Amino acid sequence: MAKCPACEHEVVTPFVLNVDGWRWLACPHCAARLERKNPRYVAVLTPLWVALIPLGTMGHRFATIAEVLMVAIFVVILAGLMRPQLQLRKPLPKPEIELKINDPPK
Ligand SMILES: [Zn+2]
Repeated sequence: MAKCPACEHEVVTPFVLNVDGWRWLACPHCAARLERKNPRYVAVLTPLWVALIPLGTMGHRFATIAEVLMVAIFVVILAGLMRPQLQLRKPLPKPEIELKINDPPK
């Protein structure tokens, strides 16, 4: 579940890995096309998480600290995936060539 940015109603969001479900996600209340907002903290936490690996090789005490931080970062990322933030999808650009099927030939 997440909140629609246009009408503030709750919207049922598809599973994180369901790419097709996310592609066609629209608000059932106002029909706004929605997409997932990329959480900024994942970009910050992922390199930090990788940086903890060498810390774990520097002795037992550092290994324990690294383990606790890794679990904490993992929980934060997982919590973000469970409750995604939505934003309005940008409208598609206008096509350069339009196909007029119903017009009679000249
Ligand atoms: Zn809506």
